[in-house]
Amino acid sequence: MEVCDWGDVPVGWRRRHLLGLEDMSAGEIELILDQAERFRLILMRGASYESCNRKIPLLSGKTCVNLFFENSTRTKTSFSLAARRLGMDVVDFSASTSSLSKGETFIDTVKNLEAMQVDVIVVRHSCPGTAMLLSENIRGHVLNAGDGAHEHPTQALLDILTIRQRFGKVAGLTVALVGDIAHSRTARSNIWGLRALGANVILCGPSTLVSRQWEALGVKVSYSLDAILDQVDVFNLLRIQFERQVIRPFPSTREYAHLYGMDAARLAKAKTDVLIIAPGPINRGLEVTPDVADGQHSAILDQVTNGVAIRMATLWMCINVKPEN
Ligand code: ASP
Repeated sequence: MEVCDWGDVPVGWRRRHLLGLEDMSAGEIELILDQAERFRLILMRGASYESCNRKIPLLSGKTCVNLFFENSTRTKTSFSLAARRLGMDVVDFSASTSSLSKGETFIDTVKNLEAMQVDVIVVRHSCPGTAMLLSENIRGHVLNAGDGAHEHPTQALLDILTIRQRFGKVAGLTVALVGDIAHSRTARSNIWGLRALGANVILCGPSTLVSRQWEALGVKVSYSLDAILDQVDVFNLLRIQFERQVIRPFPSTREYAHLYGMDAARLAKAKTDVLIIAPGPINRGLEVTPDVADGQHSAILDQVTNGVAIRMATLWMCINVKPEN
């Protein structure tokens, strides 16, 4: 095992839980990004030589439960990996095979898990506010892995880290969130995080998915992707959240792709150093064409790597927080 002095969590960090970015200051966000960069170096050294050890057991002996009530590929896997890299024991809770199906309440289920001396719960649920509710009812730490269409803080943090890596800054950049703003928790967390750090945010999509009311958050709204192509430094291409839509908000997916899909022709009209990111999963041919998703402007897989580092940082900082910090 590696012996190295990681010291205490950074001064200025006082949160026991990671519930969202809405009330987070620029300073707090930067503390997470900086910490994630340090963890990322540990993760990445495995790419260069074989005998390396990617584990730093800073949280050895602690236990993390992944409580996911919605499907997940990247978030669940990377929270598990992040916790294991930090030396934690990880339990994946399966809601469908639990006693929830026998009528046990959500809070009772969680209190029973906590009675097994669990230290942190990573929760994803379709109901907005679930992470907050949990944090008010248990002693352990809660990290929000997505609550309905409300917030997905670690997704926004990894998006912002990816942007900062490419441009060396976030302030002053213009970031367009394209697509299903109405149903996207990624959009909300990105707006709050990006605005806190001084980026200009444009929301772009059909009027059925992008309301002018968003302008109250200090963002611009555009109903035409073609009209903003040359103004934008980063396009974050959001998935159409079919599972949350009650009414189909556009006549056909073909029409959506025609008006809002990022393809080579649109990319050619964008800035030469434009960055393409997407939270995943991507629907190839709908929000983005395969050549763009896999092309030189895309940082979609860098985001996934950054996701492990961000989750290591947030786990470590929330669990080791010092009240006097
Ligand atoms: N994976 C992200 C989320 O859980 C984005 C998406 O599903 O489109 O919100």
